[in-house]
Amino acid sequence: MSPLKGKVALVTGASKGIGRASALRLAEAGANIVLCATSVDLLDMLSKDIDALGVESLAERCDVSRSLDCEELVEKSLERFGRIDILINNAGIGFSGKIVDSEPTEIEQMVKVNLLGVYYMARAVLPSMMERENGDIINIGSVAAIKYSPNFAMYSATKFAVRAFSEALRSEVQGHNIRVTLINPGMTKTPFFDSFTQGGSPLPLDKGEILKPEDIAHAIHFALNRPQGVSLNELTVRPTWQER
Ligand code: NAP
Repeated sequence: MSPLKGKVALVTGASKGIGRASALRLAEAGANIVLCATSVDLLDMLSKDIDALGVESLAERCDVSRSLDCEELVEKSLERFGRIDILINNAGIGFSGKIVDSEPTEIEQMVKVNLLGVYYMARAVLPSMMERENGDIINIGSVAAIKYSPNFAMYSATKFAVRAFSEALRSEVQGHNIRVTLINPGMTKTPFFDSFTQGGSPLPLDKGEILKPEDIAHAIHFALNRPQGVSLNELTVRPTWQER
């Protein structure tokens, strides 16, 4: 039997890309799923697909840049399912462009979503996980969390911060049998690059295939499926050709 059968996983940024693929992968493994994003119509469609797999789902509009939204989502999830076993902190937005050309309001929003959203959600789920002495928190970092490059200074800064947060959080909660895993995707084919407002998309035209969202979903599933006594701390998944 799949170790995920009957568990409850909350996935942020579940409407598209990596979050959507991960929600489906975990549902296929028997987990009930709480879906969070701001595009309610996309979440509702995904919720139907997940229910058709024979598990239950809860789709809720939640803007992770707002702490109150995160707290309310966790409350609703606990009311509906009684527990949250797994948090996938995946919601994220990007920015590419030179600092000198950047718009502070856009950067502030990226910091709120990519960094504060991870903190708000972790803070909201931890009390119930600590009470049950069990849980998994998977934070989605990036290759930009370990390598930096021009035009990605602030995006990279948010992901370096998520990496530092993940390391420190692990040492805070490991005594409660809660595992914290950072997964760093390399270039993955999702609508992510559509949100880049300046500097254009960094997608390579000549290097060959980039990852599919399912490749990252597979890595998440792999990490969650380790025996409870095994904590996979960090996993970086790149297309084979990708240097950085
Ligand atoms: P994506 O397809 O653009 O999906 C991003 C998700 O985040 C969407 O579901 C979006 O939903 C959600 N989101 C954005 N703002 C939100 C907010 N304020 N509140 C709640 N949800 C919000 O991007 P992706 O490629 O799957 O990215 C997922 C994660 O992987 C991100 O953290 C990204 O930094 C990371 N990553 C991606 C790549 C890549 O090459 N694609 C590489 C490294 C790391 P709504 O628009 O419906 O709110």
